Amino acid sequence: MPHYPVARLRPERRKSVLAGHPWIFSGALAQAPKVPDGGLVTVACDAEILGTGYYNSRTDIAIRLLSRRDEPVDAAFFERRFRALADERAAFLPPDTTAWRAVFAEADGCPGLIVDVYGDVLVVQFHTLGMDRLRDPVVAALRAVHAPAAIVERSDLAVRRHEGLEDQPVRVLEGACEGPVTFRENGYTFHADVLKGQKTGFFLDQRENRLALQRWCKGRSVLNVFSYSGGFSVYAAAAAARRVASLDASAAAMDLCRRNLAANGFGFPDADFRTEDAFEALAALRPGEFDCIIVDPPSLAKSRKQLKNAIKAYTTLNRCALNALPDRGILVSASCTTHIDPLTFSKILHHAGTQARCSLKLLESREQAFDHPYNFSFPEGRYLKFVVSAKIAP
Ligand code: SAH
Repeated sequence: MPHYPVARLRPERRKSVLAGHPWIFSGALAQAPKVPDGGLVTVACDAEILGTGYYNSRTDIAIRLLSRRDEPVDAAFFERRFRALADERAAFLPPDTTAWRAVFAEADGCPGLIVDVYGDVLVVQFHTLGMDRLRDPVVAALRAVHAPAAIVERSDLAVRRHEGLEDQPVRVLEGACEGPVTFRENGYTFHADVLKGQKTGFFLDQRENRLALQRWCKGRSVLNVFSYSGGFSVYAAAAAARRVASLDASAAAMDLCRRNLAANGFGFPDADFRTEDAFEALAALRPGEFDCIIVDPPSLAKSRKQLKNAIKAYTTLNRCALNALPDRGILVSASCTTHIDPLTFSKILHHAGTQARCSLKLLESREQAFDHPYNFSFPEGRYLKFVVSAKIAP
């Protein structure tokens, strides 16, 4: 007997599931399974069992798969999975690094769940109804594998409403956590506000890109636009950049940015901590003031509908940065919009260059850090682009 009520797939949809895609759309089901929304199902096609997942009738994605087998999804299940992930991360993490993504949703076989580690504090996000219903076994397994001092829940996510979930304010699930936590990354010290900061508190997905940046900004005058808490600023300063200016619309982010630079022994004049709008500031930059500009905006398209405007905004931002750079200046441009693939992003940069009457020579192109993986069977998980190029003036 299967472990859960059976959800039957239309035979013609079997191939996509076997190819490793973790989503089953409602149209792929022969009939709705007899479980309440958020309940576990065993997925089958004719007599063949294809896996175990959770169901939601309210979303286009009817089932997200947790396993390719028929098995109980309980604390032991998550414990096995979290332990394997923790071992893998530990093997690959760079030295002197205490913050990392322990669980990255679909790519790690746990759709709807994100877990970030900041020293001995865990930050968890439940994105979907199905995963929210599994919170008890998930938290028990996290406790067993990571033995954290505190677990913070950051399920303050708009997507939850589409799932039929109630809003969930930020809360501390276990232990005590007042806000900023201290961690190490590649030998640098950082503070992240895990209660009020962006996402879970820090952009861990750029860890390896921050390291890569160091090669290109030595001796340069760097402007870090959309700096948030100064991740790129710290690495640039440590790479002996001549000057590092940080710019972000958020005053709280700028405070943390200053703290993070100071924590690593770097200080810059007040004028180089700019709480400003990036679009206005980039358009008003004095040409030649900076010879390395980093542009890493928040996701500018949450859905396909916003794609056209997002492409326009990326083009404008990068055009303005290019206008302000001297010949051979370095543009470091990132995009975390899933809907823009790497090729499209390079076309956007090319277009921005054309508008700024220069060409761009690629120096380095990168994606998300290894602890934010994507599977080739699930291209939707591929979202981060990080492109370093040199401006070539005519
Ligand atoms: N580069 C950062 C992450 C950027 S997150 C890092 O590596 O850590 C996006 C940031 O953009 C947020 O800090 C947000 O406050 C800021 N932001 C959003 N809109 C902005 C705008 N119009 N002008 C300036 N900053 C903006």
